[in-house]
Amino acid sequence: MRSASIENSLLAILPGKEYQRLRTGLEPVTLILGEVLYEPGQTIRHVYFPNDSLVSLLTLADGHLALEVGLIGRDGMLGLPLVLGHNKSPVRALVQGEGTALRMAAAAFLKQFRLSPALQRALYRYTYTLMAQISQTAACNRFHVVEQRLSRWLLMTQDRVKKDQFRMTQEFLGHMLGVRRVGVTKAAQSLQKLHLIAYNRGEITILNRPGLEAAACACYGIVKDMHDGAVTTQAKRKA
Ligand SMILES: [Zn+2]
Repeated sequence: MRSASIENSLLAILPGKEYQRLRTGLEPVTLILGEVLYEPGQTIRHVYFPNDSLVSLLTLADGHLALEVGLIGRDGMLGLPLVLGHNKSPVRALVQGEGTALRMAAAAFLKQFRLSPALQRALYRYTYTLMAQISQTAACNRFHVVEQRLSRWLLMTQDRVKKDQFRMTQEFLGHMLGVRRVGVTKAAQSLQKLHLIAYNRGEITILNRPGLEAAACACYGIVKDMHDGAVTTQAKRKA
């Protein structure tokens, strides 16, 4: 009953007592498209547990070229460096799916983190799956073609926002995938020709999920299996 009302899966997995204690410090916020939550090298002031919002982790090159290395939604938390003893973010965290989240001040979070073994287990597990996602994304960006990467990215987005339709400009997608706008247009057109997606004025609709899974590279399944495995282990421990 309680878990059904908690959208973020890391919070949903906590035992009642530990969740109640954490809840006092959590504040609901709306994350706006394009909002920057962290910049590289800056102090982390809040952690965020997304509900239906979606946040990209971007690594910068030459100070201005940004490439997505990770994607965080209801499956995760922003602010993991705190868990590992660092108070600065190594990456830019950019909201790319507007929605709600629960946030908590860094100091209050660290206090709760030390008090809650279940939160520690959940966040160490999540750190592992995010590391796996980041390293797989590095290989994906280097070896796989834009159509495959775009398909993967759309599937990952759908898993997190749990909707078939979302807003996304081609310019933004270009940043996510590290390609020029024309490359994104070409890839989106080829997925449209196969009737896997519809793309209209910045609105992307997924029309055929199994088809999109077939069009994506294996990186999608590898990361998803790892994540699902971690969640299952965690749920078993809770039970
Ligand atoms: Zn790939």
